[in-house]
Amino acid sequence: MWNGRAGTFFRLGRLHGLLLEPPRTTPQKALAMSYVFDPVPQPTLPIKGSDKLFPVHRIYCVGRNYAEHTKEMGGDTKDPPFFFQKNASNARSDGKFPYPSNTSNVHHELEMVVALKSGGTNIKPEDAMRHVFGYAVGIDMTRRDLQDAAKKLARPWEVAKAFEFSGPCGALVPAEQVKSPSKGAIWLDVNGQRRQTGDLEQMIWDIPNQIAFLSGLFELKAGDLIFTGTPSGVGAIKKGDVMTAHIDGVGDLEVKVT
Ligand code: MN
Repeated sequence: MWNGRAGTFFRLGRLHGLLLEPPRTTPQKALAMSYVFDPVPQPTLPIKGSDKLFPVHRIYCVGRNYAEHTKEMGGDTKDPPFFFQKNASNARSDGKFPYPSNTSNVHHELEMVVALKSGGTNIKPEDAMRHVFGYAVGIDMTRRDLQDAAKKLARPWEVAKAFEFSGPCGALVPAEQVKSPSKGAIWLDVNGQRRQTGDLEQMIWDIPNQIAFLSGLFELKAGDLIFTGTPSGVGAIKKGDVMTAHIDGVGDLEVKVT
């Protein structure tokens, strides 16, 4: 190897070592540089009046948060709030709801959606609203037959709640444009017939308390969505139906069942 010049020997030795030794980049660094396949696209929602998109992190849903709906589902309004999740990619803003598989009883649950721009743990109710980015009209689509079966067997609700396209959602309206997120009419029509109607002020757990409760259970993050519960009148839809949902101060959402 040595050709009479120390410098060349040194360089060749280094080259030889590099070929035999593992790469000097750490495994963590190598992983950060590339993926074994392309990751799925980041789920997003549009924002009213902006060409920027809202990147969705997690979707939390509160169960039985309006007294009349709690009664129609056979629950007790004095229970503490409980939560379940959908997948981030279940939030869809394309105005279509493909009828899902393995069910013959899919229900609409009209809900106000709260979108967070920041998060944390153990957030106090009085500090909660500063984390809100904005609001949207959403529908928590539910395979009610699978949910009923899960309840009977004390099994989790994912198959009933966290399936593809299960969270139709309108464009987010920035919080500073929503004058009264805690009061206002909320209703849903199917094919022009009123099915659900209520008022945001009928929530058992208001938005600050939902955020506070959730942040005690999970670390909330920018990009999280909270489906805040549905008023009474939930019911079944079928292929070809058109759902029209409205929340005062937030806007309208039209979703066709395809
Ligand atoms: Mn719901």
